[in-house]
Amino acid sequence: MFDDLDDLYQQVILDHSRSPRNFGVLPGANGRAQGRNPLCGDNVTVFVKMDGDRIDDIRFEGTGCAIAKASASVMTAALKGKTRPEARVLFDHFHEMIKTGQARGEDLGKLSVFAGVHKFPSRVKCAMLCWHALAAALSGRNEPVTTE
Ligand code: ZN
Repeated sequence: MFDDLDDLYQQVILDHSRSPRNFGVLPGANGRAQGRNPLCGDNVTVFVKMDGDRIDDIRFEGTGCAIAKASASVMTAALKGKTRPEARVLFDHFHEMIKTGQARGEDLGKLSVFAGVHKFPSRVKCAMLCWHALAAALSGRNEPVTTE
C-alpha cells in the first residue's frame, strides 16, 4: 500500500505541513473548538471570527502529523470568506472525497490534494480532525473566546 505514499505526500501537503497558513490564536475569535485524535496524537484547535453568516477570519493551532497540519492549513485557506452554508457543503464534499477518493463537484480546489488519503484509513481521521473542530466551532459561535 505504500506505493502510493508519493501521491499521499504531495508537494502541497508537504508545503502546508512545513509552513502552515493561518497558524496561531485568532484575536477576536467568536468561535473555537478543539479536536483530538488520540490514535495519532493530533491536537488541533480551530478559531473562527464570524461576520454574520460569513467566516471573516479563521486560524488554527496545535500539534499533529503532516496530514493533520496540512489539512488544517489548506482548510483555513479555503474557508476564509466563505459563508456557513458554503462551509457545510465543503465539509460534506471533503468528507466524501476523503472516504472514497472521489471528489464531487468542482469546488474543492486545493482541498482535492487529500484525495489520496482514502487509501490510508488510519489517516482519514488525521485529515478530518480540523473539519470536525470547525463544525464544532461554527455551532458554538456565541461563546466568547479567551486568548492569553
Ligand atoms: Zn495524524
